[in-house]
Amino acid sequence: MGALANHTTLRLGGPAGALLTHTDPTAWPDLAHAIHRESVRPHLLGGGSNILAADAGLAGLVILMATRGITAHLTAGGDVEVTAQAGEPLSALVDYTVAEGLSGIEYLGGIPGTTGAAPIQNSGAYGQQISDVLTQITAYDWQSHTTTRLLPAACAFGYRTSVFKTQPWRWTILTVTLRLRLSAIAAPVAYRHLAEELGVPLGTRPSLAEAAEGVLANRRARGLLLPKTGPDSRQAGSVFLNPPVSAHQAAAIHAAGGPVMRDLHGVQRASAGWLLEQAGYRPGCRLAAGVYCSTHRTLTLTARERATASGFAAALRTLATEVHTATGIRLRPEPVMLGFDSQPVHSSADWA
Ligand SMILES: Cc1cc2nc3c(=O)[nH]c(=O)nc-3n(C[C@H](O)[C@H](O)[C@H](O)COP(=O)(O)OP(=O)(O)OC[C@H]3O[C@@H](n4cnc5c(N)ncnc54)[C@H](O)[C@@H]3O)c2cc1C
Repeated sequence: MGALANHTTLRLGGPAGALLTHTDPTAWPDLAHAIHRESVRPHLLGGGSNILAADAGLAGLVILMATRGITAHLTAGGDVEVTAQAGEPLSALVDYTVAEGLSGIEYLGGIPGTTGAAPIQNSGAYGQQISDVLTQITAYDWQSHTTTRLLPAACAFGYRTSVFKTQPWRWTILTVTLRLRLSAIAAPVAYRHLAEELGVPLGTRPSLAEAAEGVLANRRARGLLLPKTGPDSRQAGSVFLNPPVSAHQAAAIHAAGGPVMRDLHGVQRASAGWLLEQAGYRPGCRLAAGVYCSTHRTLTLTARERATASGFAAALRTLATEVHTATGIRLRPEPVMLGFDSQPVHSSADWA
């Protein structure tokens, strides 16, 4: 039995009933058939960078998606379609596209994890999200027991969400295809932090390489890169989504000097980090045995010696409850909570 702690960036989580590493794409049909015969639905793991796995672990089968490979072809319209295997690290895919002079995901460097997991929460950063350029997913459908092609309209992408979150058991993503522009110039800089990092006005279009390097430098400075060692090395990134707010709540936040922004889908959202700081939390503060806010940012919680998944989950609940009591705003956890319930909890209705 493999401990889930060995496969998650929080390094928390008990044993899996069975753990299987999937590396050979051609072996998938036989593997899926064998799993179907046993009447089990597997849990999927990519890089484990967005998972809080329970101390008791999981009784079922866990598949580590570790297939690698990138292919590309020129489309009739002059764009390039790039297809990556699910286990290909997203950062390796970003590096590939920047090196090949392809624009579309240059601002997504530094996000840990796999390409196959990126559509799950529609991963994004600095004004880009994977759904902006995604044209097709091949996925195994555990309902119909077929490998199927999903177009973006079927994926119900939104701010850090998709159909894969609302129907977590149904599909295993096998490949992801993106349509990218042949261009050595990046998309316009849309984020103030990045504009400052690059020393250019908002709206500037740097070269792909400058954009990608600027993102990594800015993420490092803001504690958004996963460090290999040190007090912040065990984490799953931001622990809460930026919550949607009503016009009334937005006005109250503005009056208190806080930020309200529109997401790429037009919804007004408060900053979850700012709300935690208004509740009195600061970078580095201790929340429970072995559970701390990261030394860089309040919105990232880290695990240190003596941390447990249940303590981590309890800390999340305390933070969400305090913010809700003070403001009426509900914080929802961003990491998937695995093994805490009969199903993976993507956004619990009774949270806080
Ligand atoms: C330091 C740090 C910074 C981060 N910054 C960002 C950021 O800027 N933007 C952002 O969006 N996210 C960010 N994240 C969160 C995380 O990296 C992303 O959500 C990433 O896409 C998760 O990939 P993963 O392979 O680690 O997925 P995992 O954590 O392994 O899995 C996440 C979910 O996807 C499912 N899943 C995984 N692979 C598959 C598959 N092939 N088919 C079906 N389901 C699958 C899992 O079952 C689980 O439900 C950050 C995390 C960290 C630690």
